[in-house]
Amino acid sequence: MITLQGKSASGGIAFGKISFLKRSSASVEKRSITDLAAELQRFEEARNTACEQLDDLSERLADKIGAENAALFEMHRMMLQDPDYIEPITEIIKKEKVCAEYAVNTGGSRLAQDFAEMDDEYMKARSTDVYDISRRIINILAGVEDGPAEGGDPGIFAADDFTPSETAQMDRSKVLAMISKQGSYNSHSSIFARNMGIPAVIGFGEFLSADLSGKEAALDATEGVLYIEPETAVIEKLKKKQDAILLEKQEWEQFRGKPTVSKNGKKIKLYANIGSVKDAEAAVEGDAEGVGLFRSEGLYLESNDYPDEETQFETYKQVLKCMGDRPVIIRTLDIGADKQAAYFKLPKEENPAMGLRAIRICLTRPELFKTQLRAIYRASAFGNAAIMFPMINSVNDLKRAKQIATIVRTELAAKQIPFKADLPIGIMIETPASAVIADLLAKESDFFSIGTNDLTQYTLAVDRQNDSISEFCDAHHEAILRLIGMATEAAHKAGIWCGICGSLGADETLIKTFLDIGLDELSVEAPAILKLRKIISEN
Ligand code: PEP
Ligand code: MG
Repeated sequence: MITLQGKSASGGIAFGKISFLKRSSASVEKRSITDLAAELQRFEEARNTACEQLDDLSERLADKIGAENAALFEMHRMMLQDPDYIEPITEIIKKEKVCAEYAVNTGGSRLAQDFAEMDDEYMKARSTDVYDISRRIINILAGVEDGPAEGGDPGIFAADDFTPSETAQMDRSKVLAMISKQGSYNSHSSIFARNMGIPAVIGFGEFLSADLSGKEAALDATEGVLYIEPETAVIEKLKKKQDAILLEKQEWEQFRGKPTVSKNGKKIKLYANIGSVKDAEAAVEGDAEGVGLFRSEGLYLESNDYPDEETQFETYKQVLKCMGDRPVIIRTLDIGADKQAAYFKLPKEENPAMGLRAIRICLTRPELFKTQLRAIYRASAFGNAAIMFPMINSVNDLKRAKQIATIVRTELAAKQIPFKADLPIGIMIETPASAVIADLLAKESDFFSIGTNDLTQYTLAVDRQNDSISEFCDAHHEAILRLIGMATEAAHKAGIWCGICGSLGADETLIKTFLDIGLDELSVEAPAILKLRKIISEN
Protein backbone atom coordinates (compact mmCIF):
# COMPACT_ATOMS: atom_id res chain seq x y z
CA MET A 1 0.00 0.00 0.00
CA ILE A 2 1.28 3.47 -0.89
CA THR A 3 -0.06 6.50 1.02
CA LEU A 4 -0.08 9.97 -0.56
CA GLN A 5 -0.98 13.17 1.26
CA GLY A 6 -2.75 16.05 -0.51
CA LYS A 7 -5.10 18.85 0.54
CA SER A 8 -8.83 18.39 0.95
CA ALA A 9 -10.92 20.43 -1.50
CA SER A 10 -14.23 18.62 -0.96
CA GLY A 11 -14.78 16.10 1.84
CA GLY A 12 -15.99 12.52 1.58
CA ILE A 13 -14.74 8.98 1.09
CA ALA A 14 -14.36 7.07 -2.19
CA PHE A 15 -13.14 3.66 -3.32
CA GLY A 16 -12.28 2.81 -6.94
CA LYS A 17 -9.72 2.53 -9.71
CA ILE A 18 -7.56 5.56 -10.51
CA SER A 19 -8.25 6.80 -14.00
CA PHE A 20 -6.39 9.69 -15.60
CA LEU A 21 -8.74 12.07 -17.33
CA LYS A 22 -8.58 11.72 -21.08
CA ARG A 23 -8.85 15.19 -22.46
CA SER A 24 -10.15 15.78 -25.94
CA SER A 25 -7.68 18.58 -26.22
CA ALA A 26 -5.98 19.88 -29.36
CA SER A 27 -2.18 20.10 -29.45
CA VAL A 28 -0.76 23.51 -30.25
CA GLU A 29 1.94 24.15 -32.83
CA LYS A 30 3.62 27.40 -33.78
CA ARG A 31 2.56 27.81 -37.42
CA SER A 32 3.52 30.86 -39.51
CA ILE A 33 0.75 32.58 -41.42
CA THR A 34 0.68 34.97 -44.35
CA ASP A 35 -2.94 36.16 -44.41
CA LEU A 36 -3.11 38.29 -41.24
CA ALA A 37 -6.70 39.43 -41.72
CA ALA A 38 -7.92 35.87 -42.22
CA GLU A 39 -6.17 34.68 -39.04
CA LEU A 40 -7.61 37.52 -36.97
CA GLN A 41 -11.01 36.59 -38.42
CA ARG A 42 -10.47 32.91 -37.39
CA PHE A 43 -9.74 34.02 -33.85
CA GLU A 44 -12.80 36.29 -33.82
CA GLU A 45 -15.08 33.51 -35.06
CA ALA A 46 -13.69 30.99 -32.55
CA ARG A 47 -14.25 33.51 -29.78
CA ASN A 48 -17.87 33.96 -30.86
CA THR A 49 -18.43 30.19 -30.99
CA ALA A 50 -16.89 29.91 -27.51
CA CYS A 51 -19.37 32.50 -26.24
CA GLU A 52 -22.26 30.50 -27.76
CA GLN A 53 -20.97 27.30 -26.14
CA LEU A 54 -20.77 29.04 -22.77
CA ASP A 55 -24.36 30.30 -23.06
CA ASP A 56 -25.45 26.78 -23.83
CA LEU A 57 -23.47 25.30 -20.91
CA SER A 58 -24.83 27.86 -18.49
CA GLU A 59 -28.38 26.86 -19.44
CA ARG A 60 -27.75 23.11 -19.55
CA LEU A 61 -25.86 22.84 -16.27
CA ALA A 62 -28.01 25.15 -14.14
CA ASP A 63 -29.88 22.18 -12.61
CA LYS A 64 -26.77 20.15 -11.96
CA ILE A 65 -24.55 22.70 -10.29
CA GLY A 66 -27.15 25.34 -9.34
CA ALA A 67 -28.03 28.50 -11.25
CA GLU A 68 -25.66 30.62 -9.17
CA ASN A 69 -22.73 28.34 -10.03
CA ALA A 70 -23.66 28.06 -13.67
CA ALA A 71 -23.18 31.82 -13.70
CA LEU A 72 -19.46 30.99 -13.84
CA PHE A 73 -19.93 30.43 -17.55
CA GLU A 74 -21.26 33.97 -17.86
CA MET A 75 -18.08 35.09 -16.12
CA HIS A 76 -16.03 33.10 -18.67
CA ARG A 77 -18.00 34.77 -21.41
CA MET A 78 -17.16 38.19 -19.95
CA MET A 79 -13.49 37.23 -19.76
CA LEU A 80 -13.62 36.29 -23.44
CA GLN A 81 -14.88 39.78 -24.21
CA ASP A 82 -12.34 41.55 -22.04
CA PRO A 83 -9.74 43.60 -23.96
CA ASP A 84 -7.15 42.49 -21.36
CA TYR A 85 -7.63 38.98 -22.69
CA ILE A 86 -8.18 39.72 -26.40
CA GLU A 87 -5.54 42.37 -27.12
CA PRO A 88 -2.38 40.46 -26.12
CA ILE A 89 -3.56 37.58 -28.35
CA THR A 90 -4.26 39.71 -31.43
CA GLU A 91 -0.91 41.46 -30.84
CA ILE A 92 0.90 38.09 -30.94
CA ILE A 93 -0.87 37.17 -34.20
CA LYS A 94 0.03 40.54 -35.74
CA LYS A 95 3.61 40.90 -34.50
CA GLU A 96 4.80 37.31 -34.74
CA LYS A 97 2.64 36.39 -37.78
CA VAL A 98 1.62 33.12 -36.16
CA CYS A 99 -1.55 31.04 -36.08
CA ALA A 100 -4.38 31.87 -33.69
CA GLU A 101 -3.98 28.58 -31.73
CA TYR A 102 -0.40 29.50 -30.80
CA ALA A 103 -1.33 33.10 -29.97
CA VAL A 104 -4.22 32.02 -27.72
CA ASN A 105 -2.03 29.46 -25.98
CA THR A 106 0.79 31.95 -25.40
CA GLY A 107 -1.32 35.01 -24.53
CA GLY A 108 -3.69 32.95 -22.37
CA SER A 109 -0.82 31.23 -20.50
CA ARG A 110 0.82 34.59 -19.72
CA LEU A 111 -2.40 36.00 -18.31
CA ALA A 112 -3.05 32.78 -16.36
CA GLN A 113 0.48 33.05 -14.94
CA ASP A 114 -0.16 36.68 -13.89
CA PHE A 115 -3.23 35.52 -11.95
CA ALA A 116 -1.37 32.57 -10.45
CA GLU A 117 1.25 34.94 -9.01
CA MET A 118 -1.25 37.20 -7.23
CA ASP A 119 -1.31 37.22 -3.42
CA ASP A 120 -5.05 37.10 -3.06
CA GLU A 121 -6.25 33.45 -2.97
CA TYR A 122 -9.43 34.27 -4.90
CA MET A 123 -7.54 36.02 -7.73
CA LYS A 124 -4.95 33.23 -7.78
CA ALA A 125 -7.72 30.73 -8.39
CA ARG A 126 -8.88 32.70 -11.49
CA SER A 127 -5.79 31.41 -13.28
CA THR A 128 -7.61 28.12 -14.03
CA ASP A 129 -10.52 30.09 -15.49
CA VAL A 130 -8.20 31.81 -17.97
CA TYR A 131 -6.67 28.46 -18.87
CA ASP A 132 -10.16 27.04 -19.32
CA ILE A 133 -11.36 29.71 -21.78
CA SER A 134 -8.12 29.49 -23.77
CA ARG A 135 -8.40 25.72 -24.06
CA ARG A 136 -11.99 26.17 -25.25
CA ILE A 137 -10.94 28.51 -28.08
CA ILE A 138 -8.00 26.30 -29.09
CA ASN A 139 -10.30 23.27 -29.31
CA ILE A 140 -12.76 25.24 -31.45
CA LEU A 141 -9.97 26.40 -33.77
CA ALA A 142 -8.76 22.80 -34.12
CA GLY A 143 -12.27 21.36 -34.50
CA VAL A 144 -11.94 19.21 -31.34
CA GLU A 145 -15.07 18.55 -29.31
CA ASP A 146 -15.22 20.07 -25.82
CA GLY A 147 -15.79 18.25 -22.54
CA PRO A 148 -14.15 15.71 -20.29
CA ALA A 149 -13.97 12.10 -21.36
CA GLU A 150 -14.59 10.13 -18.18
CA GLY A 151 -14.41 6.80 -20.01
CA GLY A 152 -16.48 3.70 -19.32
CA ASP A 153 -16.34 2.63 -15.69
CA PRO A 154 -16.83 4.71 -12.57
CA GLY A 155 -13.51 5.65 -11.01
CA ILE A 156 -11.38 8.11 -9.06
CA PHE A 157 -10.44 10.63 -11.72
CA ALA A 158 -6.97 12.12 -11.75
CA ALA A 159 -5.48 15.09 -13.64
CA ASP A 160 -2.75 17.69 -13.31
CA ASP A 161 -5.58 20.09 -12.52
CA PHE A 162 -9.28 20.12 -13.41
CA THR A 163 -10.73 23.12 -15.18
CA PRO A 164 -14.04 24.46 -13.87
CA SER A 165 -15.94 23.49 -17.01
CA GLU A 166 -14.55 19.95 -16.85
CA THR A 167 -15.74 19.60 -13.27
CA ALA A 168 -19.13 21.13 -13.99
CA GLN A 169 -19.68 18.70 -16.86
CA MET A 170 -18.60 15.61 -14.92
CA ASP A 171 -20.99 12.70 -14.96
CA ARG A 172 -21.62 12.19 -11.23
CA SER A 173 -22.38 8.49 -11.76
CA LYS A 174 -18.91 7.95 -13.26
CA VAL A 175 -16.81 10.22 -11.11
CA LEU A 176 -16.41 8.75 -7.64
CA ALA A 177 -13.82 11.34 -6.67
CA MET A 178 -11.31 13.78 -8.15
CA ILE A 179 -7.60 13.95 -7.36
CA SER A 180 -5.07 16.34 -8.85
CA LYS A 181 -1.41 17.30 -8.77
CA GLN A 182 -2.18 21.00 -8.47
CA GLY A 183 -5.27 22.99 -7.58
CA SER A 184 -6.58 25.46 -5.08
CA TYR A 185 -9.31 25.23 -2.47
CA ASN A 186 -10.78 28.49 -3.80
CA SER A 187 -10.84 27.49 -7.47
CA HIS A 188 -14.21 27.13 -9.12
CA SER A 189 -13.37 23.53 -9.81
CA SER A 190 -13.10 22.88 -6.05
CA ILE A 191 -16.24 24.94 -5.37
CA PHE A 192 -18.18 22.88 -7.95
CA ALA A 193 -16.87 19.62 -6.52
CA ARG A 194 -18.16 20.69 -3.09
CA ASN A 195 -21.51 21.71 -4.56
CA MET A 196 -21.89 18.47 -6.48
CA GLY A 197 -20.80 16.43 -3.46
CA ILE A 198 -17.80 14.94 -5.28
CA PRO A 199 -14.95 14.12 -2.87
CA ALA A 200 -11.84 15.95 -4.12
CA VAL A 201 -8.22 16.21 -3.05
CA ILE A 202 -5.75 18.62 -4.62
CA GLY A 203 -2.01 19.26 -4.44
CA PHE A 204 -0.49 15.74 -4.62
CA GLY A 205 2.27 17.14 -6.80
CA GLU A 206 4.35 14.81 -8.97
CA PHE A 207 3.63 11.85 -6.66
CA LEU A 208 0.39 11.50 -8.57
CA SER A 209 2.12 9.97 -11.58
CA ALA A 210 0.49 8.44 -14.63
CA ASP A 211 1.77 4.95 -13.72
CA LEU A 212 -0.83 4.87 -10.94
CA SER A 213 -3.49 4.64 -13.61
CA GLY A 214 -5.66 1.53 -13.24
CA LYS A 215 -4.59 0.89 -9.62
CA GLU A 216 -7.22 0.29 -6.93
CA ALA A 217 -7.37 3.13 -4.41
CA ALA A 218 -9.23 4.44 -1.38
CA LEU A 219 -9.55 8.18 -0.82
CA ASP A 220 -10.16 9.90 2.48
CA ALA A 221 -10.95 13.29 0.95
CA THR A 222 -11.79 14.76 4.34
CA GLU A 223 -8.20 14.27 5.47
CA GLY A 224 -6.70 14.59 1.97
CA VAL A 225 -5.17 11.08 2.01
CA LEU A 226 -4.98 8.69 -0.94
CA TYR A 227 -4.26 5.00 -0.28
CA ILE A 228 -3.09 3.10 -3.35
CA GLU A 229 -3.80 -0.64 -3.25
CA PRO A 230 -5.21 -0.20 0.27
CA GLU A 231 -4.95 -2.84 2.96
CA THR A 232 -8.18 -4.45 4.18
CA ALA A 233 -7.90 -2.68 7.55
CA VAL A 234 -7.78 0.74 5.81
CA ILE A 235 -10.80 -0.11 3.65
CA GLU A 236 -12.77 -1.14 6.71
CA LYS A 237 -11.77 1.97 8.63
CA LEU A 238 -12.82 4.23 5.74
CA LYS A 239 -16.11 2.40 5.20
CA LYS A 240 -16.98 3.09 8.84
CA LYS A 241 -15.98 6.73 8.35
CA GLN A 242 -18.18 6.94 5.22
CA ASP A 243 -21.21 5.70 7.17
CA ALA A 244 -20.49 8.16 9.96
CA ILE A 245 -20.25 11.13 7.52
CA LEU A 246 -23.62 10.23 6.01
CA LEU A 247 -25.20 9.96 9.42
CA GLU A 248 -23.67 13.25 10.53
CA LYS A 249 -25.11 15.10 7.50
CA GLN A 250 -28.55 13.68 8.22
CA GLU A 251 -28.23 14.89 11.80
CA TRP A 252 -27.31 18.44 10.70
CA GLU A 253 -30.37 18.53 8.49
CA GLN A 254 -32.56 18.09 11.59
CA PHE A 255 -31.48 21.62 12.56
CA ARG A 256 -32.73 23.27 9.37
CA GLY A 257 -35.29 25.99 10.04
CA LYS A 258 -34.70 25.84 13.81
CA PRO A 259 -33.47 28.71 15.99
CA THR A 260 -29.89 28.52 17.29
CA VAL A 261 -30.03 28.00 21.04
CA SER A 262 -27.33 26.81 23.44
CA LYS A 263 -27.92 24.11 26.07
CA ASN A 264 -28.62 26.71 28.73
CA GLY A 265 -31.06 28.59 26.55
CA LYS A 266 -28.91 31.40 25.11
CA LYS A 267 -30.12 32.41 21.65
CA ILE A 268 -27.27 32.97 19.15
CA LYS A 269 -27.63 34.79 15.85
CA LEU A 270 -26.05 32.39 13.33
CA TYR A 271 -25.31 34.46 10.25
CA ALA A 272 -23.38 33.97 7.01
CA ASN A 273 -20.43 35.82 5.53
CA ILE A 274 -21.00 36.73 1.90
CA GLY A 275 -19.25 38.65 -0.86
CA SER A 276 -21.82 38.65 -3.66
CA VAL A 277 -25.44 38.09 -4.63
CA LYS A 278 -24.56 34.46 -5.40
CA ASP A 279 -23.26 34.03 -1.87
CA ALA A 280 -26.51 35.48 -0.52
CA GLU A 281 -28.39 32.72 -2.35
CA ALA A 282 -26.00 30.20 -0.79
CA ALA A 283 -26.66 31.78 2.62
CA VAL A 284 -30.41 31.17 2.22
CA GLU A 285 -29.70 27.64 1.01
CA GLY A 286 -27.43 27.08 4.03
CA ASP A 287 -30.21 28.29 6.40
CA ALA A 288 -28.38 31.39 7.63
CA GLU A 289 -30.44 33.61 9.93
CA GLY A 290 -28.96 36.70 8.34
CA VAL A 291 -25.78 38.08 6.81
CA GLY A 292 -23.27 39.09 9.45
CA LEU A 293 -20.66 40.33 7.02
CA PHE A 294 -21.23 41.39 3.44
CA ARG A 295 -17.70 42.09 2.19
CA SER A 296 -18.73 44.88 -0.17
CA GLU A 297 -15.21 45.31 -1.55
CA GLY A 298 -15.87 42.35 -3.88
CA LEU A 299 -17.80 44.87 -6.00
CA TYR A 300 -14.70 47.05 -6.26
CA LEU A 301 -12.24 44.20 -6.74
CA GLU A 302 -14.07 42.61 -9.66
CA SER A 303 -14.32 45.81 -11.69
CA ASN A 304 -11.81 47.87 -13.63
CA ASP A 305 -13.04 51.19 -12.31
CA TYR A 306 -14.96 52.53 -9.31
CA PRO A 307 -18.39 50.89 -9.33
CA ASP A 308 -20.95 53.69 -9.66
CA GLU A 309 -23.83 54.32 -7.27
CA GLU A 310 -26.37 52.54 -9.50
CA THR A 311 -24.27 49.37 -9.78
CA GLN A 312 -23.78 49.27 -6.03
CA PHE A 313 -27.42 50.08 -5.33
CA GLU A 314 -28.57 47.19 -7.56
CA THR A 315 -26.23 44.72 -5.85
CA TYR A 316 -27.19 45.72 -2.30
CA LYS A 317 -30.85 45.69 -3.30
CA GLN A 318 -30.59 42.19 -4.78
CA VAL A 319 -28.83 40.89 -1.66
CA LEU A 320 -31.43 42.49 0.62
CA LYS A 321 -34.32 41.12 -1.43
CA CYS A 322 -32.74 37.68 -1.47
CA MET A 323 -32.46 37.68 2.34
CA GLY A 324 -36.06 38.90 2.84
CA ASP A 325 -36.57 40.17 6.40
CA ARG A 326 -33.32 38.62 7.66
CA PRO A 327 -30.71 41.20 8.71
CA VAL A 328 -27.93 42.02 6.24
CA ILE A 329 -24.87 43.77 7.65
CA ILE A 330 -23.12 45.57 4.82
CA ARG A 331 -19.52 46.30 5.64
CA THR A 332 -18.31 49.45 3.93
CA LEU A 333 -15.30 49.37 1.66
CA ASP A 334 -12.37 47.42 3.12
CA ILE A 335 -9.85 47.84 0.33
CA GLY A 336 -6.08 48.14 0.72
CA ALA A 337 -3.50 45.79 2.26
CA ASP A 338 -4.03 42.39 0.57
CA LYS A 339 -7.11 43.64 -1.33
CA GLN A 340 -5.78 45.86 -4.08
CA ALA A 341 -7.58 47.39 -7.07
CA ALA A 342 -5.17 49.17 -9.43
CA TYR A 343 -7.55 52.05 -10.24
CA PHE A 344 -7.45 53.21 -6.62
CA LYS A 345 -3.84 54.17 -7.35
CA LEU A 346 -2.94 53.62 -3.71
CA PRO A 347 0.59 54.68 -2.84
CA LYS A 348 3.19 51.93 -2.75
CA GLU A 349 3.69 51.26 0.95
CA GLU A 350 6.35 49.39 2.87
CA ASN A 351 3.74 48.00 5.19
CA PRO A 352 0.31 48.06 3.52
CA ALA A 353 -1.49 46.11 6.27
CA MET A 354 -0.71 49.09 8.51
CA GLY A 355 -1.20 51.64 5.78
CA LEU A 356 -3.92 53.41 3.90
CA ARG A 357 -6.72 50.85 4.02
CA ALA A 358 -10.41 50.35 4.79
CA ILE A 359 -12.04 53.20 6.74
CA ARG A 360 -8.84 55.26 6.40
CA ILE A 361 -9.38 55.42 2.62
CA CYS A 362 -13.04 56.30 3.11
CA LEU A 363 -12.23 59.10 5.55
CA THR A 364 -9.57 60.57 3.28
CA ARG A 365 -11.73 60.22 0.16
CA PRO A 366 -15.22 61.15 1.41
CA GLU A 367 -16.77 61.35 -2.08
CA LEU A 368 -15.98 57.70 -2.64
CA PHE A 369 -17.44 56.86 0.77
CA LYS A 370 -20.55 58.94 0.14
CA THR A 371 -21.25 57.12 -3.13
CA GLN A 372 -21.24 53.81 -1.29
CA LEU A 373 -23.30 55.08 1.64
CA ARG A 374 -25.89 56.59 -0.73
CA ALA A 375 -26.21 53.24 -2.50
CA ILE A 376 -26.59 51.39 0.83
CA TYR A 377 -29.19 53.84 2.21
CA ARG A 378 -31.19 53.75 -1.02
CA ALA A 379 -31.13 49.94 -1.05
CA SER A 380 -32.16 49.89 2.62
CA ALA A 381 -35.75 50.50 1.49
CA PHE A 382 -35.77 46.90 0.14
CA GLY A 383 -34.86 44.87 3.22
CA ASN A 384 -33.35 44.72 6.68
CA ALA A 385 -29.94 46.40 6.25
CA ALA A 386 -27.29 47.53 8.73
CA ILE A 387 -24.01 49.33 8.13
CA MET A 388 -20.66 48.26 9.53
CA PHE A 389 -17.37 50.18 9.40
CA PRO A 390 -14.10 48.20 9.19
CA MET A 391 -10.78 48.96 10.93
CA ILE A 392 -12.17 51.50 13.39
CA ASN A 393 -9.37 52.37 15.79
CA SER A 394 -10.66 55.35 17.73
CA VAL A 395 -13.84 57.17 18.71
CA ASN A 396 -12.74 59.93 16.35
CA ASP A 397 -12.59 57.50 13.37
CA LEU A 398 -16.10 56.37 14.21
CA LYS A 399 -17.51 59.86 14.71
CA ARG A 400 -16.06 61.04 11.41
CA ALA A 401 -17.52 58.05 9.55
CA LYS A 402 -20.92 58.57 11.20
CA GLN A 403 -20.84 62.28 10.33
CA ILE A 404 -20.45 61.41 6.64
CA ALA A 405 -23.39 59.00 6.95
CA THR A 406 -25.45 61.84 8.48
CA ILE A 407 -24.60 64.11 5.53
CA VAL A 408 -25.68 61.37 3.11
CA ARG A 409 -29.01 60.93 4.92
CA THR A 410 -29.63 64.68 4.92
CA GLU A 411 -28.93 64.89 1.17
CA LEU A 412 -31.18 61.92 0.37
CA ALA A 413 -33.99 63.35 2.48
CA ALA A 414 -33.65 66.74 0.76
CA LYS A 415 -34.08 65.02 -2.60
CA GLN A 416 -37.01 62.97 -1.22
CA ILE A 417 -35.30 59.72 -2.14
CA PRO A 418 -36.78 56.83 -0.11
CA PHE A 419 -34.46 55.21 2.47
CA LYS A 420 -34.52 53.95 6.05
CA ALA A 421 -33.02 56.64 8.24
CA ASP A 422 -32.51 54.48 11.31
CA LEU A 423 -30.19 51.78 9.96
CA PRO A 424 -28.12 50.29 12.79
CA ILE A 425 -24.48 51.37 12.49
CA GLY A 426 -21.93 49.01 13.96
CA ILE A 427 -18.21 48.55 13.81
CA MET A 428 -15.68 45.82 13.39
CA ILE A 429 -13.37 45.20 16.30
CA GLU A 430 -10.24 44.14 14.47
CA THR A 431 -7.39 46.03 16.06
CA PRO A 432 -6.19 45.64 19.66
CA ALA A 433 -6.86 49.37 20.15
CA SER A 434 -10.53 48.99 19.34
CA ALA A 435 -10.89 46.06 21.76
CA VAL A 436 -9.12 47.96 24.54
CA ILE A 437 -11.36 51.04 24.15
CA ALA A 438 -14.47 48.98 23.37
CA ASP A 439 -16.29 50.69 26.27
CA LEU A 440 -15.85 54.08 24.58
CA LEU A 441 -16.72 52.79 21.11
CA ALA A 442 -19.81 50.98 22.40
CA LYS A 443 -21.37 54.33 23.32
CA GLU A 444 -21.30 55.28 19.64
CA SER A 445 -22.14 51.87 18.09
CA ASP A 446 -25.25 49.76 17.62
CA PHE A 447 -23.28 46.50 17.56
CA PHE A 448 -19.78 45.04 17.45
CA SER A 449 -18.51 42.35 15.11
CA ILE A 450 -15.03 41.04 15.85
CA GLY A 451 -12.77 40.54 12.83
CA THR A 452 -10.54 37.86 14.27
CA ASN A 453 -8.46 37.55 11.08
CA ASP A 454 -7.09 41.06 11.43
CA LEU A 455 -7.32 41.11 15.22
CA THR A 456 -4.98 38.10 15.28
CA GLN A 457 -2.57 39.65 12.78
CA TYR A 458 -2.35 42.96 14.65
CA THR A 459 -2.29 41.50 18.17
CA LEU A 460 0.32 38.84 17.53
CA ALA A 461 2.27 40.83 14.90
CA VAL A 462 1.90 37.98 12.39
CA ASP A 463 1.24 38.94 8.78
CA ARG A 464 -1.89 36.96 7.84
CA GLN A 465 -0.61 36.67 4.24
CA ASN A 466 2.74 35.17 5.17
CA ASP A 467 2.60 31.36 4.99
CA SER A 468 6.12 30.98 6.33
CA ILE A 469 5.09 32.20 9.80
CA SER A 470 1.75 30.42 9.96
CA GLU A 471 3.00 28.32 12.90
CA PHE A 472 3.18 31.55 14.94
CA CYS A 473 -0.31 32.63 13.96
CA ASP A 474 -2.23 31.16 16.88
CA ALA A 475 -5.76 32.51 16.80
CA HIS A 476 -6.43 30.59 20.06
CA HIS A 477 -3.80 32.74 21.81
CA GLU A 478 -4.97 33.86 25.24
CA ALA A 479 -4.47 37.49 24.16
CA ILE A 480 -7.05 37.11 21.38
CA LEU A 481 -9.56 35.39 23.65
CA ARG A 482 -9.12 38.09 26.29
CA LEU A 483 -9.65 40.86 23.71
CA ILE A 484 -12.82 39.09 22.50
CA GLY A 485 -13.94 38.92 26.13
CA MET A 486 -13.22 42.62 26.69
CA ALA A 487 -15.17 43.70 23.61
CA THR A 488 -18.12 41.48 24.51
CA GLU A 489 -18.26 42.73 28.09
CA ALA A 490 -18.07 46.37 26.99
CA ALA A 491 -20.82 45.77 24.42
CA HIS A 492 -23.13 44.21 26.99
CA LYS A 493 -22.52 46.99 29.50
CA ALA A 494 -23.64 49.46 26.83
CA GLY A 495 -26.65 47.30 25.91
CA ILE A 496 -25.49 46.31 22.42
CA TRP A 497 -24.69 42.90 20.94
CA CYS A 498 -21.28 41.53 20.04
CA GLY A 499 -20.40 38.82 17.50
CA ILE A 500 -17.52 37.39 15.49
CA CYS A 501 -17.33 37.51 11.71
CA GLY A 502 -13.67 36.47 11.33
CA SER A 503 -12.76 32.85 10.53
CA LEU A 504 -12.40 31.98 14.21
CA GLY A 505 -16.19 32.16 14.53
CA ALA A 506 -16.48 28.80 12.77
CA ASP A 507 -13.90 27.11 14.99
CA GLU A 508 -15.86 24.21 16.47
CA THR A 509 -13.36 23.72 19.27
CA LEU A 510 -14.04 27.23 20.58
CA ILE A 511 -17.84 27.19 20.59
CA LYS A 512 -18.00 26.44 24.32
CA THR A 513 -15.51 29.27 25.01
CA PHE A 514 -17.56 31.69 22.87
CA LEU A 515 -20.72 30.78 24.77
CA ASP A 516 -18.91 31.24 28.10
CA ILE A 517 -17.67 34.65 26.95
CA GLY A 518 -21.26 35.54 26.13
CA LEU A 519 -20.97 36.28 22.41
CA ASP A 520 -24.33 36.91 20.76
CA GLU A 521 -23.61 36.26 17.11
CA LEU A 522 -21.38 34.14 14.88
CA SER A 523 -21.08 34.86 11.19
CA VAL A 524 -19.50 32.05 9.20
CA GLU A 525 -19.36 30.47 5.73
CA ALA A 526 -22.86 29.27 4.78
CA PRO A 527 -22.11 25.51 4.57
CA ALA A 528 -21.01 25.52 8.24
CA ILE A 529 -24.33 26.88 9.56
CA LEU A 530 -26.29 23.67 10.26
CA LYS A 531 -23.29 21.93 11.76
CA LEU A 532 -22.59 24.88 14.09
CA ARG A 533 -26.25 25.12 15.09
CA LYS A 534 -26.04 21.53 16.22
CA ILE A 535 -22.77 22.09 18.12
CA ILE A 536 -24.19 25.20 19.83
CA SER A 537 -27.28 23.23 20.90
CA GLU A 538 -24.97 20.72 22.62
CA ASN A 539 -22.93 23.31 24.53
C1 PEP B 1 -11.42 39.96 9.77
O1 PEP B 1 -10.42 40.70 9.72
O2 PEP B 1 -11.55 39.03 10.60
C2 PEP B 1 -12.52 40.13 8.80
C3 PEP B 1 -13.65 39.47 8.92
O3 PEP B 1 -12.29 40.96 7.75
P1 PEP B 1 -11.42 40.54 6.45
O4 PEP B 1 -11.08 39.08 6.61
O5 PEP B 1 -12.27 40.82 5.28
O6 PEP B 1 -10.24 41.43 6.59
MG1 MG C 1 -10.48 42.49 8.49
